[in-house]
Amino acid sequence: MVASLYGVEDEQKAIWVFLEQMEGEVERVSLEILSKGRQLADEAGWSLVGLLLGHQVSDQAERMVAYGADEVWLAVHPLLEYFTVDAYAHVVEQAMLKGRPSVFLCGATPNGRDLAGRLAVRLRTGLNADCTDLRLNPENGMLTSEVTGFGGGVLALLESPHHRPQMSTVRPGVFPMGEEDPNREGHVHEMEFELAEGMIHTKLIQRVVGEGVDLTQTPVLVCGGRGIEGKFDMLQEFAHLMNGEVGATRPPVDEGHIERERQVGQTGVVCRPKVAFACGISGAFHFVVGIQDADIVVAINSDPNAPIFEYTDFCIVDDALQFVPALIEAIQMDRATAND
Ligand SMILES: Cc1cc2nc3c(=O)[nH]c(=O)nc-3n(C[C@H](O)[C@H](O)[C@H](O)COP(=O)(O)OP(=O)(O)OC[C@H]3O[C@@H](n4cnc5c(N)ncnc54)[C@H](O)[C@@H]3O)c2cc1C
Repeated sequence: MVASLYGVEDEQKAIWVFLEQMEGEVERVSLEILSKGRQLADEAGWSLVGLLLGHQVSDQAERMVAYGADEVWLAVHPLLEYFTVDAYAHVVEQAMLKGRPSVFLCGATPNGRDLAGRLAVRLRTGLNADCTDLRLNPENGMLTSEVTGFGGGVLALLESPHHRPQMSTVRPGVFPMGEEDPNREGHVHEMEFELAEGMIHTKLIQRVVGEGVDLTQTPVLVCGGRGIEGKFDMLQEFAHLMNGEVGATRPPVDEGHIERERQVGQTGVVCRPKVAFACGISGAFHFVVGIQDADIVVAINSDPNAPIFEYTDFCIVDDALQFVPALIEAIQMDRATAND
């Protein structure tokens, strides 16, 4: 077994959270992980450290204290303005070897995944990707990461007893975001580090930001599955009336009925809306992880034995292609009457 660059014997009892930023603004997923980190650190009596890299991001460091960090390690450099895995992995590795945290957490975003994979190799440690929950044993300092495996039928609990840091990535929306507390006190530590242009093998030519939709923020999520036969216009109309957004299971995405960014579930987006509708969806675990934390789940399925009904608060056994248009009409009539 190859030893990690530092081990259990010289680790610091601290949880580090990589604070991913875009254009100087820390991403929501990092704040979600910071909140979870705060809870775990409090339970174990450990410290919580945020690691922030960027160019003009110093104001964000103080904000991270308000969101729960005891300490923020800040690395400021023009070459860190935008993410490149070369520069970021180089600086984060230096920080890790100085701080030697027991636990390192990172958002499972495209950049976070890129960074975490590179770091795991450099530090000779393991990486638990796309975790759906985290626990920290205060007795032995072991992080247990929950991931779904083997087609979704199995929840695997992963531990890294010998290698440090214990590294996990967590997808957006898995943990709720905590409240900002401006009275919290913490320390911002400006790092010294080495970084030169010659270390970076990629060059940012142009950034193109797409319109995009953030399903993690919508209060109402109307999801359609194979059972709605590609009738997403119908769901769009319903979602619009409910001030919500449309999501989908994987089959309609694969069949090209709807954009991939709207896929909900294990390999899509994990959401926590107030209300989630599941229309013509069987209830495969891969999908359910994406909506199981909604306050209310309503399912419409023509099969009374569909597994989705095991996870729902309201079960409607009906043809979604008939039921949803009738519901739209009823809402429209109700609103028209209310406006008269
Ligand atoms: C590694 C891996 C990752 C995956 N990740 C994801 C993921 O992130 N998200 C995801 O969704 N899936 C994912 N999947 C696929 C997942 O396992 C299921 O295959 C998928 O969720 C099923 O989609 P569905 O419910 O739309 O289709 P089906 O399972 O085919 O279900 C269709 C349902 O529609 C009902 N129905 C049919 N007609 C009507 C009607 N007129 N009115 C009402 N109900 C009707 C049927 O009774 C049935 O229950 C993944 C699979 C793997 C192996």
